Amino acid sequence: MTEPASLSESETGLAGLAVSLRGVTKVYDSGVAALGPLDLDVRQGEFVSLLGPSGCGKSTALRLIAGLNAPSSGTVGVARRAGRVRAGHAIGFVFQEPTLMPWTTVRENVRLPLKLARAPTAEAKARADEALTQVGLAEFKGAFPRELSGGMKMRVSLARALVTDPDILLMDEPFAALDEITRFRLNNDLLALWRNLRKTVIFVTHSVFESVYLSQRVIVMTARPGRFGAEIRIDTTAPRGEEFRTSVEYAGYCRKVSQALAPSYPGQAH
Ligand code: ADP
Ligand code: MG
Repeated sequence: MTEPASLSESETGLAGLAVSLRGVTKVYDSGVAALGPLDLDVRQGEFVSLLGPSGCGKSTALRLIAGLNAPSSGTVGVARRAGRVRAGHAIGFVFQEPTLMPWTTVRENVRLPLKLARAPTAEAKARADEALTQVGLAEFKGAFPRELSGGMKMRVSLARALVTDPDILLMDEPFAALDEITRFRLNNDLLALWRNLRKTVIFVTHSVFESVYLSQRVIVMTARPGRFGAEIRIDTTAPRGEEFRTSVEYAGYCRKVSQALAPSYPGQAH
């Protein structure tokens, strides 16, 4: 992954923040104003969802944070863990499609980022196995992608993002293509990973229900060019699980988020 156009923690004064966007805009070469101006601060260890209508610039925002694209204006600050040898690995990216190499095994797919970073082979294999254990796929390291279900492929993709031990996980509608039961299971497993590994997660979704279930904070974006629309804190004390998913409290948060989203869909009833 290319190095983000960002500054080190001390240079940006990011104390306690993982990501800080200031006045960030993106106008593509085609002339499409895709994003912003957007201001966004994400605390270290926080789980934040970006929610908004299709085409509002969510993927664009993630790509700017990852340093895959440069902003047209504004600054993108990403905190770095002190002493990190390869700064680029502060970030792990999970795309909507698992994008696995079909010709090789699960373990080789997960090992790829370490291979690209020229990590010693034995160490890379051990770390790939560890990441596969984290996502519950230890037994499938020798399998090929075609032998896996959609949910399992997404787990491999998640393991590949975790294998470099990034501080920040950027996830772009990772579970959108999965059936509901698989998605619920992956939601629960992602929350367990987030709690255990203490990563910062920025999760893009267009599902109100998923955003409320997973996040500490939901950022609702406006229609293109995507700007900050509203922020809803999900500060429940209930453990996230089936009980929360079926609670009155959860339904209340979902209603609140839906209402915040409504102005992005003119003509729809609130
Ligand atoms: P979202 O992820 O919220 O659906 P995107 O960030 O993918 O939105 O896209 C925001 C807008 O920018 C859309 O109108 C899209 O067509 C446009 N866009 C995205 N990527 C490019 C690109 N590489 N070149 C030109 N336009 C783009
Ligand atoms: Mg997108």
